[in-house]
Amino acid sequence: MYNRSVQASILIVEDEEKLAQAIALYLRNAGFSVEIALDGQTALEAFARHQPDLIVLDLMLPKVDGWEVCHRIRKESDVPIIMLTARVGEPARVQGLELGADDYLEKPFSLRELVARIHAVLRRAGKKSQTVIRAGDLQIDIERREVFVHGEKVELTVSEFALLSFMAQHPGRVFTRLQLLDAMRGSTTETLERAVDSHIKNLRKKIERDPQEPEYIQTVYGVGYRFRDLKL
Ligand code: CA
Repeated sequence: MYNRSVQASILIVEDEEKLAQAIALYLRNAGFSVEIALDGQTALEAFARHQPDLIVLDLMLPKVDGWEVCHRIRKESDVPIIMLTARVGEPARVQGLELGADDYLEKPFSLRELVARIHAVLRRAGKKSQTVIRAGDLQIDIERREVFVHGEKVELTVSEFALLSFMAQHPGRVFTRLQLLDAMRGSTTETLERAVDSHIKNLRKKIERDPQEPEYIQTVYGVGYRFRDLKL
């Protein structure tokens, strides 16, 4: 199940390390949790270990090539796969889609385009899976962000919901605290940013003559705040 509030994990399979790192950085900034595999064998191992939500798969790879990786993964999983290739033209595209890739991007591509495709493919995949998770007396409606225990609605904070829905979508899997923090990152960042805003607001009430026209703590739109340099 795909939900933007729950961080999707992406496995990048690309042997050009610089390109892999650039993709990883861009995807992390776009809110995904990312792992890199530099060859096909490592990719298959990483896939088996972490069951990512989506795979970005380069075709030309050392050891086991992208076709083979796609073929082997498809035998056991419906995980969305976006193929990358330097090959130009229809045959490669058709072959990739026949092997079960969900989408296909020719190099060179823009990272923005890749992210757009990732969102589209995840959305499509998400529609196929369940949006309500039931476990014992617990019911989690991912789309509506509602949780019920014994049929009674329970109010959860944004972070609590992110944590619960993330774990419930991977039943049986053990996560370290660090992985859980990573999963919550989107929501905690939001919560923490709002907390800063309310601290700033309170501070202004205490130190500014007119909190609406702050003299000391200035808002820098789209970025944050700054304490004014009174020497300037
Ligand atoms: Ca390659």
